[in-house]
Amino acid sequence: MPYDDNNIFAKILRGEIPAKKVHEDDHAVAFHDLYAKAPVHVLVIPKGKYVSIDDFGANASDAEIAGFYRAVAKVAKDLGLSDAGFRTIANTGLNGGQEVPHFHVHLLGGKKLGPMVSD
Ligand code: AMP
Repeated sequence: MPYDDNNIFAKILRGEIPAKKVHEDDHAVAFHDLYAKAPVHVLVIPKGKYVSIDDFGANASDAEIAGFYRAVAKVAKDLGLSDAGFRTIANTGLNGGQEVPHFHVHLLGGKKLGPMVSD
């Protein structure tokens, strides 16, 4: 699937729609999910145009991949999630229920979370 420049996260990256950002660096931006499903629900996205984790893993540079995952870990720590634990999810494609076609990792925490997968 080609990258769609009109997806919501592309618009957030361009500053065309607002987001409650918690982190930004050369490779990643993190912001609160608009429809939080846990006391803490933050999305971390790479700045590069990658549709999914497939695309990111296959086509991003080593620096982009390292920078992105370092940002995920830093955001979890900065939000106070690391000690008690948290969950990361990267929904991918149709069966994964991915709604926004710009690769993102959900960071969920702030309470003991339920089953990893239901239904
Ligand atoms: P996914 O289903 O993995 O593609 O997740 C997309 C996520 O983006 C969902 O959890 C939505 O609640 C979230 N979302 C949609 N629009 C926005 C927005 N404008 N700002 C922040 N989060 C959003």
